[in-house]
Amino acid sequence: MVIFEYKLDGTKKQYVAIEEAIRIGQFIRNKCLRVWMDERGICKNDLQCYCAVLAKDYPFATRLNSQARQASADRAWFAISRFYDNGKNRKPGKKGYPRFQHDNRSIEYKTTGWKLEPDGKHITLTDGCGIGRLRLVGNAKQQIAAFPPEQIKRVRIVHRADGYYVQFGVKAERAIVHQPTGKQAGIDVGLKAYSTDSEGNTVDNPRHYRKAEQKLKRLHRGVSRKQKKSQNRKKARKQLARAYLKVQRQREDFARKTASTLVSSHDLIALEDLKIRNMVRNHHLAKSMHDAGWGTFLSWVKAYGLMHEIPVIAVAPQFTSQECSACGAMVKKSLSVRTHICTSCGVVLDRDHNAALNILAKALERTLGHRATSSSSEEGNASGQTASPRLSLRKTSKRAG
Ligand SMILES: [Zn+2]
Repeated sequence: MVIFEYKLDGTKKQYVAIEEAIRIGQFIRNKCLRVWMDERGICKNDLQCYCAVLAKDYPFATRLNSQARQASADRAWFAISRFYDNGKNRKPGKKGYPRFQHDNRSIEYKTTGWKLEPDGKHITLTDGCGIGRLRLVGNAKQQIAAFPPEQIKRVRIVHRADGYYVQFGVKAERAIVHQPTGKQAGIDVGLKAYSTDSEGNTVDNPRHYRKAEQKLKRLHRGVSRKQKKSQNRKKARKQLARAYLKVQRQREDFARKTASTLVSSHDLIALEDLKIRNMVRNHHLAKSMHDAGWGTFLSWVKAYGLMHEIPVIAVAPQFTSQECSACGAMVKKSLSVRTHICTSCGVVLDRDHNAALNILAKALERTLGHRATSSSSEEGNASGQTASPRLSLRKTSKRAG
């Protein structure tokens, strides 16, 4: 599924209608959750049937398109099944018992209830909520109209701090022909440099949050100074939300671009399987770690790896910074020691560079091990791809030729 996103341009009245649609969706989701809580043992299909019952009992709900109502029931089921999965997989800590929503900000349509005009610049929502015709604002490069309507499987309207957006989920194979480069990279993410690869190249850390921190602090003060429930407080809160949105977008954008560059210039990527959430518990580092946005970066690397059909291998993070990449000796060092100096072979490397070399070596060791044992033991790695680089390279070269 490829997502295309546009900002929406409409009238105030239309925005009110969108809010109405969002509220109906939330109502249905919460009702479905309630019925699951009351009568355990309900399955996804039961919730779909319950949708029809709801429409009968609450006539106002029928204003929302029937598939959009089903999509809302699907959302309830999504929350429920995640809860079940967490229990099954013995996820430590809270299991995420489904909760009622009060501040839902989006509504999802499937293949009916909307019409896209052939010019690709307007969408009309045709259900009873009365949203009507909205203009799409976006860059000229994304052309949703280029896709046949049957391929558009989802239309989602999202309310953000700076307006309303529409996302089109298009079912399309995004075939990127990977140009083989003959290069493999291990990647270490860090606080000093955003990332360091096994050749010693670094990407500087942009520190978007740290840069915006002064402004955010000022806006926070603004909110707390205003009287509760006043119009001015509402305005100040909106301003603050927009500022956060900006930081979030910068971070996401940077992560995506860096990942794209990395994947398109290598044939194999190895990275650490970091449990970010556990690391962020270290409070001294939490803000910086969160700001670095490694989680986003790593998931983009995996996503681009899938698109390019190159292996992205996650390895266990144990000892990657302590081991010597040249001779394998253990060289203990604290977080503040930035240079790896090996006491047994004398090699001197930047700490992160040494770690990146170890990560690559670990990944290659694993793929070689897989190949040596048997082809049937090809377990999926963390990114769900086959671990054999040879297999993938053959595939890509065939596509390129
Ligand atoms: Zn050494």
